[in-house]
This record gives sequence, structure tokens and C-alpha cells, in this order.
Amino acid sequence: MSEDNSLEQDIGKLSYLLNQIKEPIVCVKCSDEFMTGQTDAKSLQDYSRIDVGFTERGIQLWCQRHQINICHINFNGQKPEVDFRCLEKKEIK
Ligand SMILES: [Zn+2]
Repeated sequence: MSEDNSLEQDIGKLSYLLNQIKEPIVCVKCSDEFMTGQTDAKSLQDYSRIDVGFTERGIQLWCQRHQINICHINFNGQKPEVDFRCLEKKEIK
């Protein structure tokens, strides 16, 4: 078993694995283009094309469209808790 036992196992406490985003991180250029009506995308989310990944410093968000850094989070050498588990809401029919 390779599962990290320090992660929460109680399904009632796993709501943080659902979308909890309060402040989206966006590319300034994509946002400008969307807000000024230069695209026919229905939402900024549809317009954005973002790479996310671990780096030497921490985690970087990179705009594929503009080939620019959006955000680079520095972990300062720390190893924050990371949870890659997926939690899907069951559809009730
Ligand atoms: Zn962009």
C-alpha cells in the first residue's frame, strides 16, 4: 500500500477535494482580451489555456496562449501537504 496515511480518510471531511476556488488565478493578458471582447469565448475559463506543474521553486502556472508566467508559488524548500485524490459527486437520478 503506497497511500499516504497522513491524508484525511473520512469522506465527510473531504469536501476540500471538490472545487473550493475562491480567487481564480488568471493570465492578465487573457483576462484583458476576454474583458475587452477580443474573443468569442463564453467565459475566461474557456479562453484560458494554462499549464500547471511543479518546479524547483514550487508550483508554476504558465499561459500557453501568451507564453508567459502567470504565477510561480515558492515553497521555500518546504513540502506542503499534497492531495492528488479525486472526489466526484455522484449524480442522483
Ligand atoms: Zn494568457
